[in-house]
Amino acid sequence: MSSLDIDKEKCVNCGACTAVCNEDALCMEKEDWTLSFNESVCTHCNACVKACPLRVISLKYTA
Ligand code: SF4
Ligand code: SF4
Repeated sequence: MSSLDIDKEKCVNCGACTAVCNEDALCMEKEDWTLSFNESVCTHCNACVKACPLRVISLKYTA
């Protein structure tokens, strides 16, 4: 099992992660341009982790 951890305090809402997510698991809220994450459709492909320029996304592996 794995889950995605996003440090929203450090996120600058640049959209780099949403651009590479093929599952629409990450998207920008149109109202306030904050990042939203829908874990139920995330495939843990790691693309957003690599795309984030600030490295605020990480994949956590749980037992
Ligand atoms: S790990 Fe992959 S599927 Fe999940 S949010 Fe990131 S880019 Fe999207
Ligand atoms: S790529 Fe990183 S800094 Fe940019 S919106 Fe995504 S989590 Fe935030």
